[in-house]
Amino acid sequence: MSKTAWITQELDALKQAGLYNRIRTIESPQGAWLQVDGRRVLNFCSNNYLGLANHPDIVAAAQKAIGQMGVGPAAVRSIAGTMNLHVELEKRLAAFKGVESAITFQSGFTANLATIPALVGKEDVIFSDRLNHASIIDGCRLSGAKIIAYEHNDPASLEEQIKANLSQFRRALVVTDGVFSMDGDIAPLPDIYKVASKYDILLMVDDAHGEGVLGKGGRGIVDHFGLHGKVDVEVGTMSKAFGVMGGVVAGNAVIIEWLRQRGRPFLFSSAVTVPDAAACIAALDLLEDSTQLVDRLWSNAAYFKQGMKSFGFNTGVSETPITPVMLGEAPLAQQFSRELFEAGVFAMALGFPTVPQGKARIRVMISAAHSTADLDMGLEAFKTVGKKLGVI
Ligand SMILES: *Cc1c(COP(=O)(O)O)cnc(C)c1O
Repeated sequence: MSKTAWITQELDALKQAGLYNRIRTIESPQGAWLQVDGRRVLNFCSNNYLGLANHPDIVAAAQKAIGQMGVGPAAVRSIAGTMNLHVELEKRLAAFKGVESAITFQSGFTANLATIPALVGKEDVIFSDRLNHASIIDGCRLSGAKIIAYEHNDPASLEEQIKANLSQFRRALVVTDGVFSMDGDIAPLPDIYKVASKYDILLMVDDAHGEGVLGKGGRGIVDHFGLHGKVDVEVGTMSKAFGVMGGVVAGNAVIIEWLRQRGRPFLFSSAVTVPDAAACIAALDLLEDSTQLVDRLWSNAAYFKQGMKSFGFNTGVSETPITPVMLGEAPLAQQFSRELFEAGVFAMALGFPTVPQGKARIRVMISAAHSTADLDMGLEAFKTVGKKLGVI
């Protein structure tokens, strides 16, 4: 037997179970419409909430920066890779979010891997929402701290777990997603904050799907709930609504200073490139200039959800532009997604283990880039396929 035979077997098993991921290739810029595998389709899949991934001002800013500063940073941040654009971006992000300080990372994923192990270690405990994102889970595991999951979006369960366990550990951290990407529900942050502060525990929120979406002009979940100065660590990403790439940690200045000394992806992996940093700054310019795109995102989401509900679809518990269309079993969701694609609509089916057994769905990602005509076309396609498959 070859050394890799087990991998071939595992891959075959995935295919048998219908869990093998066939990755589509996008052949056009990101936008309301995409060229995918040779077809032009309406894009209901990407996290390009504000349509910034191919915005002319942002593209121009990236091009200009390349002309002036080249491309790569050529070193990790702590040696010779901190360029003026990185420093400017961090200052701008701190001001945008109304926090003392901010530090950027290569991605939201690495921001979590950097932050959690810098704050807690083997003698400590993490209270983590049961449905937290994979990068939070990995960051928790890397830290070596004891991980205790509390029930999803349930501050009472969090408090129970704190009461039962806190005294056995040196320090603690409470961590939650801000917006949960599978259901589009929002963490009850004011109540989570009440519990965390009652026990004097550090509070961290990962607002990847709230950055550029929630709060005034997209300032995020802390702004949405008016919790300025109360959440110790706010992680965000510039790869979703900002349309670029990169992670950010914003909050308490002492914690940010500590991450510059102890955040391992900051110390041992190079930073985002010159055009990335310039593009993120240009995205901030747009967000600070006007709330128009964020407003458009929310009105588009309300319009689409209202249409889907009027047809009799179940759009779950979403409170954000993430719109799950609940279908039940995974094969139905997959067939639904294939039929939509045939009708010119690109929307992803999600099944177990990404979501619980029996809760398979199509997840529609609404964007400010969609026109009303786009949304109407998408709604018609859902109606037609829904009737054909007996869902509505
Ligand atoms: C998407 C996401 C990330 C990862 O962000 P990237 O910048 O793409 O690495 C981290 N956390 C949450 C909650 C996310 O939804």
